[in-house]
Amino acid sequence: MIRLPDHVREPEGRASLTATSDLEAVAKERGIKYFLISYVDLFGALRAKLVPASAIRDMQKAGAGFAGFATWLDMSPADPDLFAVPDASSLIQLPWKPEVGWLAADLVMDGEEVAQGPRTVLKRQLAAAAALGYEMKSGVECEYFLISPDGKTLSDASDTADKPCYDQSALMRRYDVIKEICDSMLTLGWGAYQNDHEDANGQFEMNWNYDNALVTADRHVFFKYMVKSIAEAHGMRATFMPKPFINLTGSGCHVHVSLWKKGKNAFSDPKGQLGVSTLGYNFIGGLIHNADALCALTNPTVNSYKRINAPRTISGATWAPNTVTYTGNNRTHMIRIPDVGRFEFRLGDGAANPYLLQAGILAAGLDGMANARDPGRRLDINMYTEGHKVKGAKKLPLNLLDALRALEKSRVLKDSLGDAFVSGYLKLKTEEWNAYSRHLTQWERDTTLDI
Ligand SMILES: [Mg+2]
Repeated sequence: MIRLPDHVREPEGRASLTATSDLEAVAKERGIKYFLISYVDLFGALRAKLVPASAIRDMQKAGAGFAGFATWLDMSPADPDLFAVPDASSLIQLPWKPEVGWLAADLVMDGEEVAQGPRTVLKRQLAAAAALGYEMKSGVECEYFLISPDGKTLSDASDTADKPCYDQSALMRRYDVIKEICDSMLTLGWGAYQNDHEDANGQFEMNWNYDNALVTADRHVFFKYMVKSIAEAHGMRATFMPKPFINLTGSGCHVHVSLWKKGKNAFSDPKGQLGVSTLGYNFIGGLIHNADALCALTNPTVNSYKRINAPRTISGATWAPNTVTYTGNNRTHMIRIPDVGRFEFRLGDGAANPYLLQAGILAAGLDGMANARDPGRRLDINMYTEGHKVKGAKKLPLNLLDALRALEKSRVLKDSLGDAFVSGYLKLKTEEWNAYSRHLTQWERDTTLDI
C-alpha cells in the first residue's frame, strides 16, 4: 500500500540539489570522499565508477567513461567511449557509509544522449507527458526475499507458516536488517512509513512515499542496492527475483500511478466511478490495450512468467495477475483502484528495470489518453476462482518469448519508446531467451528420458 504523502525531498534542514549543483562544493560541505557515478543497463544491472571527490569537477561535466559493450547495452567493442554524466539532483549519501555519494547518470556517446539508456527512455516519456502539461507521480512496492548467501534456502529456518503474511515473529526475527534499511530511508528523507513480512516465507516489503516518477525510479535503483548491501552485511542475501521458490508467492513490484497538472491530481474526480477521472480511465485503457507488449518490460526475465500465470501457492493465492483486467479494491486483477485519484498496476515484478517499468507504464498510458482508449468493464470478481467465466479478456503472455514478440509487433511502444531502444532491447532479450532455450533442464530429463 502506498500512502498519499506530504513528501520531503531532502532530509530536514538541507537544501535541495539541482541537476547542476556544484558537486565538488557539495562534497566538501557534506564530507563526501568518493562518488559512485552509476547507471543501469538494459537488463537492470547497476554499473558504476568510484571517483574521488578531487576528480568530480571534470567528471561532472564530461561524465565517467565506460566501454558500453562490456555491459548489457546494444553496443559494439568498436564503439567510442560511453560517458555516464551524473545528475547532481539524484545524489544519495550511502547511509551506512556517508563518505560515499551515489549519483544516477545519463548515458552520452559522441556528445549525444544515448537513446537506449534506460534513464533517458524514462526522461523522454516524462518530457512527452510534460508537453501535455502532465507530471507522472508514482510509488513502488518492492518485494524481496532474505535468503542464505548460497541462494539455496531462506535465511530463517523457522519461517515456515502456511500463511506467513504479516507474521510478527518472523518479521521481528529480521528486525536488525529491516530496521537498518528503514532507518536509512528515514535519514534520506524518503518518508518511509511501514515494513512487513509478505505472503511468502522469507519475503518482506518496505514502503516509502510516492514522488515524481524519475525520483521514484532513482530511489528504486538505490533501494535494491541498499537492501542487498545491508542484507550482505548481516550475513544474508537479498533477492528481488520474481519467483525464487516455485511453491511460494513471487516478488512483485506494484506501481501506484497518478498524473498531475498544475499541482492537481488529474486522475481524481469525485464524480467519476471510484473517484477516478475519464483521463484516468483512458490511461488505464492504454495499459489494458498494450499489456502484452508491456510485459516485455515489466516482466523482463524467463523467471518472471513463473510468477504471473502461476498455480496457487502454499499461502492460498499468488497475488499476481493472470489476465488483462481491472477492478476496484480487489487484489486479483492486473489493475486495482484502491482509492480515489490513483490506481495500482500489479503486473510488474522484482526483475523489472526501474526506469523501463515507469517508462513503459507512462508510454502505454499516454497512448490511452491520446486515443481515448476504453478500459472496458470493471470486473468486481475474484479472478483466481471466477476468472474462467470472463469472456473476451486478454490473457497475459505465457513466457518471455511471447512478450518479446508482442513488443516486436507493438507500433505504439516502438513509436513512443523509440526504435533505437526497442530494437536494441529486443535483440539482447531474444539472445537471452535463446541462451535459456539451449539449457537442458532436469524436468525434461525426468519426463522424456524413457519416452
Ligand atoms: Mg506486497
